[in-house]
Amino acid sequence: MSDTLLIIEDNEQNLYMMRYLLERAGYRVESSGDGPGGIAAARRLHPAAILLDIQLPGMDGYAVAVALRADPELSGTPIVAVTSYAMTGDREKALEAGATGYIEKPIDPDSFVDQIKAFLPDARAERDSQ
Ligand code: MN
Repeated sequence: MSDTLLIIEDNEQNLYMMRYLLERAGYRVESSGDGPGGIAAARRLHPAAILLDIQLPGMDGYAVAVALRADPELSGTPIVAVTSYAMTGDREKALEAGATGYIEKPIDPDSFVDQIKAFLPDARAERDSQ
């Protein structure tokens, strides 16, 4: 399994912060600012996990999650929905659409990497055994 993480996020500041924290922790980070681009990147990269903003221009995060789950090669890839704290209904909808779990925005820089790692047990085990 790759140690590449894919972030699908249209907000430059959110993307910058998530990329910074994950790269500092040793992950490779790829990104897309919209759903169709993110789906294409996921098919190309087979990332260890996908961080998925819900509020995206055009195709929203729910539709992206459904499309990712419909691809047999991505059906087992962890999808972490990144939802706004205020939008409590987002979380249930994200899980119904196929997300593995969610984290809340604004992200907490002190715990963000650990929150993401929790979705990556297989990737961590494989890296540690190499
Ligand atoms: Mn957004």
